[in-house]
Amino acid sequence: MVSVKGKKNAFEGNFRTMDFIPTISDSEEDVPDLDSEDEVVVQPTAKVTGKKKKGKKQNVVEETEESKDLNPEFNFNLDGEELTTNFQGWDFAGDDENKDDVKKDVDLDGIIKRKGGLINQVHIASDNEEEDEEEEEAGNNEDDEELAMDGFGMGINAEVEQEDDEEEESNEKEPETTKGFNVSNKGLADVEEQEDSVEAMADFYAPEEESKEAKKQVHTNFNTLSLSRPVLKGLSDLGYTKPSPIQSATIPIGLLGKDIIAGAVTGSGKTAAFMIPIIERLLYKPANIASTRVIVLTPTRELAIQVSDVGKRIGKYVNGLTFGLAVGGLNLRQQEQELKTRPDVVIATPGRFIDHIRNSASFNVDSVEVLVIDEADRMLEDGFQEELNEIMSLLPTKRQTLLFSATMNSKIKQLISLSLRRPVRIMINPPKQAAARLTQEFVRIRKRDLLKPALLYYLIRKLDSSSQKRIVVFVSRKEMAHRLRIIMGLLGMKVAELHGSLTQEQRLQSVNQFKSLEVPVLICTDLASRGLDIPKIEVVINYDMPKSYEIYLHRVGRTARAGREGRSVTFVGESSQDRSIVRSAIKSAEEGENQNQVLGRNVEWNKVDEVSKLIDSNGETIDDILDEEKQEKEILRAEMELRKGENLMKHKTEIQARPRRTWFQTEDEKKNAKIMGTLSKNKKTINSKKRKRQEALEDKPRSYKKTQSDRKIDQERAMKKQKLHQVRKIKVERARNSFCGVKFYNQKFCITLKS
Ligand code: AMP
Repeated sequence: MVSVKGKKNAFEGNFRTMDFIPTISDSEEDVPDLDSEDEVVVQPTAKVTGKKKKGKKQNVVEETEESKDLNPEFNFNLDGEELTTNFQGWDFAGDDENKDDVKKDVDLDGIIKRKGGLINQVHIASDNEEEDEEEEEAGNNEDDEELAMDGFGMGINAEVEQEDDEEEESNEKEPETTKGFNVSNKGLADVEEQEDSVEAMADFYAPEEESKEAKKQVHTNFNTLSLSRPVLKGLSDLGYTKPSPIQSATIPIGLLGKDIIAGAVTGSGKTAAFMIPIIERLLYKPANIASTRVIVLTPTRELAIQVSDVGKRIGKYVNGLTFGLAVGGLNLRQQEQELKTRPDVVIATPGRFIDHIRNSASFNVDSVEVLVIDEADRMLEDGFQEELNEIMSLLPTKRQTLLFSATMNSKIKQLISLSLRRPVRIMINPPKQAAARLTQEFVRIRKRDLLKPALLYYLIRKLDSSSQKRIVVFVSRKEMAHRLRIIMGLLGMKVAELHGSLTQEQRLQSVNQFKSLEVPVLICTDLASRGLDIPKIEVVINYDMPKSYEIYLHRVGRTARAGREGRSVTFVGESSQDRSIVRSAIKSAEEGENQNQVLGRNVEWNKVDEVSKLIDSNGETIDDILDEEKQEKEILRAEMELRKGENLMKHKTEIQARPRRTWFQTEDEKKNAKIMGTLSKNKKTINSKKRKRQEALEDKPRSYKKTQSDRKIDQERAMKKQKLHQVRKIKVERARNSFCGVKFYNQKFCITLKS
């Protein structure tokens, strides 16, 4: 388990200074950190000797400290029906070694504190404190609950009422049973229009029988999968007793060396599904030649670290097995040193991976035998196409390729570029129902949209006054996540945010703080949280309704896992989409075997109103905080530039002696590629109906035409921004010119410059 205590300074020292920047990239704009170029020494845990066994070379473990843990009498635990584990979560701290004292990011909490905060001005008792009162209220005020069971009067029992012509049209054609799934089914209809033909599929994929056969496989324990003893022991340490459906289906095929395209929801055990066959294969590697044999590509650094950690734990008892990371945001030189040792498995983000192949002389990929692409759909969609093409051109074509994803909407046209060899397609259906012990609550917002921030505060306080529960809040926009963090911070609540506009360091910090309960509330967007495995989440709050019932299930599926209890609270607006999701949840609960509860939550709107007034009266403070944050970022950026210059001067000769790094794509080129990708993808969906469906399918906020007042607000904002920019420019200039003469916050920085 990650311990964040004592790590705070390291984190403080690791932030980048950009304002909202896209970070699913590996741009390396860091200061050349030559001072921290520690040699990375990879310590083998046990000596390995290559001895022949049945014609194959196998790594034989000699008795060392670690190998003593390998009990030859070990028998894998056959008990345990549930997919439960004693494992507490992946170690995100382990690879975060880029520590220095230099302040690289704004202390937002500090700014909020300086602005006074609004703590003590509101009091909201928790559910426990008010238990009696609550019951009484529920008795007097059963309206909400009744309404909820009727889909808030949304017609769960009646014929589905239609909001616009478009929906009416398509619903008429829908079979009775799918009515609750309006939004998603419409989305799917769109996809179906462009589905691959049966012939194309037959040509591209392995025969369907193989997929069917694979899905039929039910393994009640790992022993029947013919795994090696060290791997079984690693799994046992993790508390894995029974393979999950995706593991049952894919491990045997992976072990046969076949290519796989697999889809299963987040949290279904995908990582182990590809890691287990990989590690089994590496047991039989030639013992004395170090070479990288497996590459795992992931879209984000957090996922890469998570995957690396899973691999290390499963392969704990496999002697001499080494893992390396090649991900953006971590120290480049350190990674170079690590890759020099040719780790068996390299887990990488695409940009940094290409960078290393091009620029790290001693790293090459000639002996790669397996390529895994995790979150493959996202990689193919998110502007990674060019990078993937480049990687494919560099890797040996004779290899095993494994594609894993939560969704698998990619078409054969896109997949062809990955040079798969008749992959076996294994799609594990996402659960159609929420978990057994999940209580799903709904709060109807009606026309109270402006009260939502206050409602969020009220709810969190109600559900967990002592900050002992992990609460995830889903919002649709990253700007909202940031604003809510400030509002909650002002109200004295510890909250972290997780979205695509944070730097890798910031995202990592959020996840770590949340996992360790240092910060019990995490506000995030769907995309940023994709693939991340955060155990023991007690409550999920849907601040904004997702765009489809599938996404709703995915979100609420983050709680009530492994037989635990959980609760979701969803704010329901008046749109047909919101109502459709409530209907689906109710219908599913009524029809399903799980009998999980669906309730309407009573809200004391008068209290919410009070909090909302307090927030409104502090609107300026919130804007001030945002401005101050921006200004501090500018100053930190100037500091960084100076430090960069200083380092360049200090290490001039060494830097000049190095060969110039070449870049595959600049940030601008990458952005353009992404835009072009989106444009070409949407080429055929230019009419508004199709665009709406596309947006619904992609869970994107809807675009809309700007009104006159929108344009006026934009103009005012632009003017304000320009003014601010000028003020900042002057400040930054002053800072540049006078080095220590001005008020630099960073003591160490001043001393360095003086000397
Ligand atoms: P993943 O989908 O790979 O992110 O895994 C989701 C969660 O399931 C992680 O916390 C894993 O530790 C856990 N997990 C994976 N496989 C198993 C298994 N066979 N038994 C129990 N837990 C598992």
